[in-house]
Amino acid sequence: MTEGKTRPVVGALALQGDFAAHTATMERLGADVVSVRKVAQLEGIDGLIIPGGESTTLIRLMEVFEFWEPLQRWIGDGHPVFGTCAGTILLANEVLGPTQKSLGLIDITVERNSYGRQVDSFEGTGSFRPTPGREDEIEMIFIRAPRIVRMGAQVEALGDCNGDTVVARQEHVLVATFHPELGAGSTVHEYFLQMVITARG
Ligand code: GLN
Repeated sequence: MTEGKTRPVVGALALQGDFAAHTATMERLGADVVSVRKVAQLEGIDGLIIPGGESTTLIRLMEVFEFWEPLQRWIGDGHPVFGTCAGTILLANEVLGPTQKSLGLIDITVERNSYGRQVDSFEGTGSFRPTPGREDEIEMIFIRAPRIVRMGAQVEALGDCNGDTVVARQEHVLVATFHPELGAGSTVHEYFLQMVITARG
């Protein structure tokens, strides 16, 4: 961190889902974390995590608390965002299985609950590539996870597991289809924190 700068402030969208585990990880990495429950709180944060949970419920709550358009604008303005699992579904341009509305901020198509009922949760080992030439083997926990079934040309694949891209980035939008906040290690969160620090200059 640059001297004289305050600690980066990361918001965790706290309407539903496992935001608490993200908060613990980010605090351990040296960020201040705000549980975001009101649109006005977007003013005070440098980046936002949209956690896993149930995307249909998250959509409903975002409508009730009138988050949809303000959040779309806030992310559209270039603020870094990190969506995991249901958060990925919310950020995608297109959602299948069944189709549902989304914020449309990363050019991917995701299929919900794509790993089927028999294996709706599983743990795997996958690779994460934070910089070209570096490859980290990490534990990846998938819970009724979506699968990225299409990626636009602007989208970078940063991680994979069993042949699927599971971490992807388009500019300031980072997504993971698994739950990095539940696995051992925190390299994906470190990567996002670096995006936040870079973006605030
Ligand atoms: N299956 C959930 C959905 O479709 C996502 C699950 C998760 O976030 N762990 O919204």
